[in-house]
Amino acid sequence: MGFYNMLKDMCFSSHLWISGRACEAVSGKQFDCLSPRDGKLLVRVAEGDEDDIGVAVKAARAASGSWARQSPKQRRRYLLQLADIIESHQDELALLESLDTGKPITHAKRDDIPLSINCLRFYAEAIDKHYDEIAPTASDVLATIRREPLGVVGAVVPWNFPLMIACWKVAPALAAGNTVVLKPAEQSPLTAIRLAELATAAGLPDGVINVVPGYGETAGAALGRHPDVDAISFTGSGPVGRLFLSYAAESNMKAVFLECGGKSPQIVFDDADDLDKAAQAVAQGICYNQGQVCSAGSRLLVQHSIADEFIDRVLSHVDAWSLGDPLDPATRMGALIESKHLERVQRFIDIGREEGATLISEGKRHSPCEGGFYLPSTIFDHVQKDMTLAQEEIFGPVLAVTRFKDEAEALELANATRFGLAAAVWTSSLSRAHRISRDIKAGTVWVNNYDGSDITVPFGGFGESGNGRDKSLHALDKMSQLKSTWIQF
Ligand code: NAD
Repeated sequence: MGFYNMLKDMCFSSHLWISGRACEAVSGKQFDCLSPRDGKLLVRVAEGDEDDIGVAVKAARAASGSWARQSPKQRRRYLLQLADIIESHQDELALLESLDTGKPITHAKRDDIPLSINCLRFYAEAIDKHYDEIAPTASDVLATIRREPLGVVGAVVPWNFPLMIACWKVAPALAAGNTVVLKPAEQSPLTAIRLAELATAAGLPDGVINVVPGYGETAGAALGRHPDVDAISFTGSGPVGRLFLSYAAESNMKAVFLECGGKSPQIVFDDADDLDKAAQAVAQGICYNQGQVCSAGSRLLVQHSIADEFIDRVLSHVDAWSLGDPLDPATRMGALIESKHLERVQRFIDIGREEGATLISEGKRHSPCEGGFYLPSTIFDHVQKDMTLAQEEIFGPVLAVTRFKDEAEALELANATRFGLAAAVWTSSLSRAHRISRDIKAGTVWVNNYDGSDITVPFGGFGESGNGRDKSLHALDKMSQLKSTWIQF
């Protein structure tokens, strides 16, 4: 088998990448990078902290003037070269991602890596077609409105889609003329380091992209507080998102773009045309990536009249998501990211029982690879809207089912959350689809589908799901600042 064979010869890049070079951490420290697949050590990774962030920001600042002055066409060329080189390493990167996160290799190869490449190409191709503006002022003056780079952008990313989310940040930032310091999650630093290495191999100038692996409390906080960082683009949990707002307030009022968690509802009405398609989407919405997806459909709201039948359908689709070795191409559900997270998800399951929700499905616990962090999907019915299961982002394969009687109650339940990342509505009524998608508080609403996604469409949340938008041309707006120039002779 291809990937098992590749594993034998695998070597892991494990250094900081600053100014186009691999380096040790200033402190000389390293941390263990384990594979969730079997809990074994993959490699020890250089542990960056405040000193290393300082060096990386200096490198990014030094590179920023000349990178910003490159013509958009030139930046386009570099980013396309980077996309090409990633494409030529896609099997290696898919394997790295699967080993480092425990996700099925099939998904890493089909989704994470191609979507990363596509993202780089999209921003490369967009940037030399993006015009600035001239304002309609009086004729004795010319007022131009130009997008200028922000300068140095700090990108802080989570562990669930490490390379893809890094590319969502890095690609628009670089295209818009910024340089970047990327801080990957300590649980999954390997593809970020490789991204920077490949960028240098693709010819990107030194210092344009720098990567500092390390812990959030040290390296992440130092990036957030650094006075010479112009913006932070963050994806991760709400509590850490809040910290970045305070780091900015304490330091230089840098712009902070947050993409945080969710508790997204799938609302299924009794007039939905294709209940089986909906049930399949509900199963996928909670099982894909082991439920570790910000937009996971972690709440099922189903109309009373069809609830029993619909839940049976969901259970039969969930059966197809059995646990397996992430490196087996047939596997659809791999391992959770780390033992601490597995314990956290298990605690939520215990709380669900204690609070009186009805446990209706709990897959057989087993470990397809000894020592790994595996948890089958778990489904609770009769979850009340104020229960922990309905309110907290569990970030694992745990589905909370709540039944509703009519549209008004469905909408009330859907909006009874501090999050607002995504939602889905399953109905054959066009007017109901319009009403719900207008009234629901979420950055993305899917009607009769779940998880539709394309690089051309913005992704981000309302409320405590964040304030930024990744993907699409709108991401270029946040990576630039507007300058108005009044010209009169
Ligand atoms: P996390 O918030 O724990 O960590 C995210 C990043 O922040 C990591 O790089 C981490 O090292 C860093 N960090 C942690 N503590 C820090 C601190 N005190 N100071 C500075 N940096 C710190 O999140 P996670 O567990 O890696 O990822 C899961 C979360 O990410 C979930 O809440 C999920 O919903 C969210 N997420 C959101 C999106 C989106 O687009 N909205 C996408 C993917 C994941």
